[in-house]
Amino acid sequence: MGAYVCSNCGAEARVVTARKYQFRETPLKRVYLCGIHLIKCDKCKNVDPIIPELDDLLSSLAHAVTNKRSRLKGDEIRFLRKYVGKTQAQFARILELDPTTISKYENDDDVPGAQTDRLIRLVAIGLGVTGNASKNWMADTVGQFENIEDVPRASPLEYESKTGEVQYAGR
Ligand SMILES: [Zn+2]
Repeated sequence: MGAYVCSNCGAEARVVTARKYQFRETPLKRVYLCGIHLIKCDKCKNVDPIIPELDDLLSSLAHAVTNKRSRLKGDEIRFLRKYVGKTQAQFARILELDPTTISKYENDDDVPGAQTDRLIRLVAIGLGVTGNASKNWMADTVGQFENIEDVPRASPLEYESKTGEVQYAGR
């Protein structure tokens, strides 16, 4: 097996499989990568995760969020807005809302109405996904609309490295 080198101290490091690794590189508060590999250094205790293909991961996260079966939480709205590369002001114009309203949603100081929640999901797909993927994804998401519980639930997202799928935990 090829030697892995610690990015911190340069010592030879070993690869271990992580049962659950918390991924903090998105606005989403709780994302866990299950079964990914970590490069672990015994000398300085540094840990470097081997992150799966980032674009695919973000797209899988966005898919799970737009198909969530309860109302969106603030961190999920912020994630979708950033996924489509919009500022709060730009997002507010698209949704015909005041920018401070978007900010309140994202900080859980206010909750979007049921229809605004659904519109945010569709805007994210419309601007973030292209080609046939967009059509299938849109149909998937709208197909779930009648199952959306009328409460915002803070549920962790889990990425399973064996399948590449992302799901809300506890479903
Ligand atoms: Zn080290």
